[in-house]
Amino acid sequence: LANFLNLKLNLNGLAMPKWYCNEPIVLVTNWLQDFQLSAQHHRNAMKILCLKRPHFYSPIFIDLPTKYDDIFHMHNEYRCEHCKKVSSNTLLCLICGELHIKRWFPPCCVYQRQRYIQHLAKCGHPAAIMLDIQTTLIAICLTDTYGYWHSLYLDQHGEEDPKLKRGKTLLLNLNRLAVLRTLWLTATFDYQIQNWLSYTSLMISHFDVLL
Ligand SMILES: [Zn+2]
Ligand SMILES: [Zn+2]
Repeated sequence: LANFLNLKLNLNGLAMPKWYCNEPIVLVTNWLQDFQLSAQHHRNAMKILCLKRPHFYSPIFIDLPTKYDDIFHMHNEYRCEHCKKVSSNTLLCLICGELHIKRWFPPCCVYQRQRYIQHLAKCGHPAAIMLDIQTTLIAICLTDTYGYWHSLYLDQHGEEDPKLKRGKTLLLNLNRLAVLRTLWLTATFDYQIQNWLSYTSLMISHFDVLL
């Protein structure tokens, strides 16, 4: 076996590691010389050996404020950087934090339409998770379709207020946030969204569909 493995044999016939010696300094020097020799022949392999183990950071949403009032006042209007028109049909991407105009509403200009499509190419795998600022509801946006999920913000009785009419303080519900994150990470929206709507279909009131 020792011969097969190309190990040196000492006088007693026992296998000896090639680098065995009594002096630690000699041992370390030998290791470094061997490493240098290997690095000359197997550059990439040595690079991998030397690099740290890569860390994988699980995808997360942007930080959301506890009170819906705060998010509403911050994002309920968007001024187009191209045509300078102001729109209140805003969507906040929970993945990257960008503000967009709803694709299913007439855009202020072609630039915004393109911007929406480009954004889906960035955040739409498997789907862009957008917060519809006017309704508090979550819109799941795919390339050709979108669907509404529930709201992350509830009042003290645990109820949604998508028309923002009751005027009660709406607070971020962490359980719902965790469920949404799981849906996003596992791409299992179909279990919870029955009505996928086409961007090109007639604009209808989502409240008629949802409520
Ligand atoms: Zn995004
Ligand atoms: Zn515009």
